[in-house]
Amino acid sequence: MMPDIQELVCIVCPLGCRMTVSGFSGDAASIAVEGNGCARGADYAVREATAPTRTVPSTVGIRGAALPRLPVKTARPVPKGAIMACMRVIRGVSVDAPVAMGAVIVEDLAGTGVQLVATRSMLAAE
Ligand code: SF4
Repeated sequence: MMPDIQELVCIVCPLGCRMTVSGFSGDAASIAVEGNGCARGADYAVREATAPTRTVPSTVGIRGAALPRLPVKTARPVPKGAIMACMRVIRGVSVDAPVAMGAVIVEDLAGTGVQLVATRSMLAAE
């Protein structure tokens, strides 16, 4: 059974407040956050305790460029439970140069509804 109390460090700003979340095993209204310096931290703590998400950085193969791998990331955070499925899809992806930074590499990554995008441009090799 999940414990009803969770300690975490806020990553929303550099202050890194240490927070405690409790009551998240019951209904949403019973969730209590302590130690947060602002409301953004409380929002982050509730999300992290109830539906944690992560932005996934990775690389995909690229043909016809000077380097063999193109850096990519998810355009938005995806549910933590979907990360392995996302990585399985990413491993099978390969694109052709040139690619512009921000180009959509996969439209709906592993059914998450989140795009996979290029994080740098890569020209075609001469
Ligand atoms: S709780 Fe607010 S002040 Fe504290 S680290 Fe998070 S965003 Fe920054």
